[in-house]
Amino acid sequence: MAEMQDAQNAKFQKLRLQRFYLAQLNYLITYIVISVAWFAGQYQGSIWLMLSHIGLGLGTQSVFFALMRSNWNLRLNDPSMTNAQIAVAILLITYLLAFAGPLRGSLIMIYANIMVFGIFQLSRRDFLIHSGLALVCFGALITIEQHYQADTQRFTLNLVEWFILACFLAGLSMTGSYIRELRERLQQRHNTLQAHQETLRGMMGQLQNLATTDPLTGLANRRHFIQEAQRRMTLMRPTQQIGIALIDLDHFKRINDLYGHAAGDQVLQGFATLANSTLRDGDLIARFGGEEFVLLLGNANENALFQCVERLRLRFAEQVFDALPEGVHCTFSAGLALLQPEDDFEACLNDADQALYLAKNSGRNRSEIHQPSYA
Ligand code: GH3
Ligand code: MG
Ligand code: MG
Repeated sequence: MAEMQDAQNAKFQKLRLQRFYLAQLNYLITYIVISVAWFAGQYQGSIWLMLSHIGLGLGTQSVFFALMRSNWNLRLNDPSMTNAQIAVAILLITYLLAFAGPLRGSLIMIYANIMVFGIFQLSRRDFLIHSGLALVCFGALITIEQHYQADTQRFTLNLVEWFILACFLAGLSMTGSYIRELRERLQQRHNTLQAHQETLRGMMGQLQNLATTDPLTGLANRRHFIQEAQRRMTLMRPTQQIGIALIDLDHFKRINDLYGHAAGDQVLQGFATLANSTLRDGDLIARFGGEEFVLLLGNANENALFQCVERLRLRFAEQVFDALPEGVHCTFSAGLALLQPEDDFEACLNDADQALYLAKNSGRNRSEIHQPSYA
């Protein structure tokens, strides 16, 4: 569970870094624009002032980078630090616009570019707050400028630029809301689909269970046993043998008649529990029908098969059932046969059935192994 959480965290952290690199591309473009403006003589300040923009950009971004690489950002409510990154970018752009001179009108759109960065991440409220911050910063810049160097014509132009910026940010905010809504709807649809998929998977599991399990005993059913036995036959090595035992409870009808059907059911369930605890992991036991069971023993020889069934038979004969009166026990007879890779499975079952018939006729509560002479 904790590992899954770690993997999830690492995945998100990687996505955040990718977004950060994308933002750096925008910073790089801005550095190029600043340099070109300076070379073209359009930047209104010394080379040191011009370099200070790049220096501040690199400095602030290094801090964000370090916070992400050290995973410190994971302590924050919003580990993507989108709000902080946008606020810093707005301040840096305002600082740049202060020296952009006539280029200010075109560079002002960088504000909108910054907001695009948060379009998928920010709530409408945050988006409006950042738009407000951009407008306040730019508004403060032109007001301070007017205060120190009054120029009515330039101030009017600046006010129109401020208004255009406000219009664009409002438009962007609406587009952002629309995109976010679409995204949420998609996410919702994705979640619903995922929930359906889970239900289907659960139902498939239940169906699979129903199709392969006997409801009374919880053992594999006849169909599953035959499929599994045939599958195991295809995997057999040439020298390998599979042991098959048909097990039939003795005088079971009498149990039902004397103590009731529920008592009979309890005996069947008791047999299943005992078989499960007696057999090894690779062995397969199934309810073949009624009070008849079938056992498959992988990689067996005559002796191993016989010993295994005898162990089960002796334990079962001693088993006590609540539904039966004290001293009343139930037994089974078993017919055993060995299956070679080239044998026919049905024929082998038939052999086991003949051996079972012999066990019944020889007095019940015993195991008989099929000898070819019976055929
Ligand atoms: P034998 O020793 O020759 O096998 O005698 P038997 O009485 O066990 O054999 P028979 O085939 O005459 O009877 C089998 C009985 O098993 C009859 C049937 O009612 C009972 N039976 C089959 N399925 C169930 C079940 O799910 N629950 C219960 N309680 N009885 C079942
Ligand atoms: Mg029977
Ligand atoms: Mg029987």
